[in-house]
Amino acid sequence: MSRRSHIVKNIISIIILIVAITITIKIYNKYNYNDFDKSVTEIGKTNFTRDSEEKYSKMDSYKIENIDYTDAIFSQTISVIPNRPYKVTCKVKVKDVKNLNNTKNGGAHISINGTTERSKTITGTSNWQDLTFYFNSKNRTEVNLGFRLGGYAEKSKGTAWFSDFQVEVGTENTNSKWKMVCFIFPNIDVNVNVNGKMEHVKLQMSNNDIMTVKDNISRYSTSISQICKNKMSIEYEIYTISDPIKTLSYDDESGYYVSADDVYEYINTYVEQNNYDHIYVAFRMADKQKGNDILVNDWVGLGGMDYLGIGFSNIRMPDDENNYVYQYNYLFNTFPEEVFLHEFLHTLERNSKEYGYEIPELHDYKKYGYSENNIDGLKKWYTDYMNCNISYEGKKIGLPEEIYTYKPANKENFIYSIKLDTFSEPKNIIEAIGKLSTRVRKLLFSHASKE
Ligand SMILES: [Zn+2]
Repeated sequence: MSRRSHIVKNIISIIILIVAITITIKIYNKYNYNDFDKSVTEIGKTNFTRDSEEKYSKMDSYKIENIDYTDAIFSQTISVIPNRPYKVTCKVKVKDVKNLNNTKNGGAHISINGTTERSKTITGTSNWQDLTFYFNSKNRTEVNLGFRLGGYAEKSKGTAWFSDFQVEVGTENTNSKWKMVCFIFPNIDVNVNVNGKMEHVKLQMSNNDIMTVKDNISRYSTSISQICKNKMSIEYEIYTISDPIKTLSYDDESGYYVSADDVYEYINTYVEQNNYDHIYVAFRMADKQKGNDILVNDWVGLGGMDYLGIGFSNIRMPDDENNYVYQYNYLFNTFPEEVFLHEFLHTLERNSKEYGYEIPELHDYKKYGYSENNIDGLKKWYTDYMNCNISYEGKKIGLPEEIYTYKPANKENFIYSIKLDTFSEPKNIIEAIGKLSTRVRKLLFSHASKE
């Protein structure tokens, strides 16, 4: 073999090697999700790739493509300090994202995998935008944080690109002043299924109803401080929204009710701007005097729900205007604001459990020897509940005093936040190789430990 053909052969081998390495790197980069785990509810409906064309910054974006309705997420378990507010942000772009059955709460979003805790969801087609998710770590030391196309109970199709992830830990707000809001919806205009038949229900609250709600919130703002002996206080805002509520939610226990999704489009601008700690919606769902009582339920308030991490309660006008549950009268009802307090206490009850406290059930007053009074309802029970003064088996039980400072995380907690390097991408080839070898070691180690 001549010297020249030898050189040519060598050059060809080197070129083949370079091409092979380049292709390997390209394939690796296309499917490299760094430390994220990918998971889907149905196999074969999702493609997870890195996109070097459609990207927000220098880094290749993380693309989830759902070719059919499904739920897909890439997530990572991160350590958190208990009882701290956290903020997760990213950039997101979506194309043709639709939810199965047009549900409102699926789409592209940030969430804690395995829970209903999530950011707002993005559907349709739109260019890169900011997405923010606030959560409290509560009593957890780790959470599985993910970027999702679909939902906890929803399925979506279309494409979402995610980029520029950032996690921040905020400072706790230790005051016990709660900023509350009540959105009064005087109009509902809904189609509901009554005994298998679709019915159209259109109702209005009277000016009297609206005044009643306003009077009761005012009474409530004073009485809550008295009942809890100033362990907390509230300030409040009231907005009357004239757009009708157009959908209702349903569950077997409560029947029809207004969920966060039913009012999201009307109230979210207020909520994003104002950092509320608790949200009420007030409405009428039936009117006996007008012969409309098809949506009859036996509740006047509903609580323990949440609106993107903020406690959310329903205040419902009674079906019959001769019902005096919300009317003050010194002879037979001196506590008409009771339902506002009761529903808020469901949120504190839920929070206490989520923070790991053992507390009595709000509805268990009879078990502890309390009864409902004709004039001021369960005021005595609420007083002892809020002040941890219920006698039981030689102890005093009730809500823990700290619970009054455990409010939803919002932007006020992040004025002096600390940015964490969670989800950071390798910045150069040395870091990339370092990260890769750590992952290979982890993989080998986890494999070895299983055997
Ligand atoms: Zn209740």
